[in-house]
Order: sequence, then structure tokens, then C-alpha cells
Amino acid sequence: MAIYEYKCSKCDHKFSAMLSISKRDEEEKTLTCPECEAGEPRRLLSLFSMPASVGAPGGGGSKSAPCPDAKGCPASKAGG
Ligand SMILES: [Zn+2]
Repeated sequence: MAIYEYKCSKCDHKFSAMLSISKRDEEEKTLTCPECEAGEPRRLLSLFSMPASVGAPGGGGSKSAPCPDAKGCPASKAGG
């Protein structure tokens, strides 16, 4: 099981839901907003932390280099 965070596409209410990882896609289809009961919320970042030994999707190097330019750093860009 893992906790995922969702945002309602209708009223923008944020809420979290605990889903089984293997059935996440199926179960999130049944999620509804606790505020307005709208379906199909948008998934935000997952709240659980991944172990360092697990390879991150998308690849890249294991060596984390500091961002050379704070302005153009994608990591500092906050979604929303
Ligand atoms: Zn809602």
C-alpha cells in the first residue's frame, strides 16, 4: 500500500488516498473528491519516500550534481 495525493479537478480540493500499488490504476478510477464527490481527481506527488537503492524512473546518473544556475533549475520549479 502507498499513500497518494490527489487534487480535485472540479473544486481543487487536495486529499490523500491509500491505494495498493499493483491496483493503483484501477482503484484511483473509483476515487471521488471528499468535498464535492467529483470523480477522476488528478494525481499529485506521492507522499512515501523511495529507498535510495531503487532506481528512479527516467534514468539519469546516480551522482547528484548541484544545479549550476538557480534560475533554470527544474528542481526548484514548484507545480501548481
Ligand atoms: Zn472536489
